[in-house]
Amino acid sequence: MYNDTMKWLILVSVVTCVVTYWVMKLKSNINLFLENYEIAIIDKEDVERTGTQTKEILDLRPESYDNSIDLRGTPTHLCPCGSNIWNLKVIFEDFEIATYFLDMECVSCGSVATAPTPVDRMGTEE
Ligand SMILES: [Zn+2]
Repeated sequence: MYNDTMKWLILVSVVTCVVTYWVMKLKSNINLFLENYEIAIIDKEDVERTGTQTKEILDLRPESYDNSIDLRGTPTHLCPCGSNIWNLKVIFEDFEIATYFLDMECVSCGSVATAPTPVDRMGTEE
């Protein structure tokens, strides 16, 4: 009977020692982690939103040309689809846009239009 109790006591103290050692090791690992890293909680929506914001500008092009129309003739700033971003060809000189071609394409719907120029502004002011 005495022997049996001793066995249990020894077993319990060994288990206690192992658990204590394990908890202390875990604690020090958590502390090490917290000292070296910042924890940020980011939900999936944020990640998706960031993904669309960093979308490459070169990917900014129409998905289909089904709704595109030829608007060339009257210079315009805004496409009928609501977009005001255009793809057009330019020539640089001295780190600035020196010349741009007048044919431009809407990045959203693919319609072609005529780019506005300072000469066109003078026409509207008079
Ligand atoms: Zn458009």
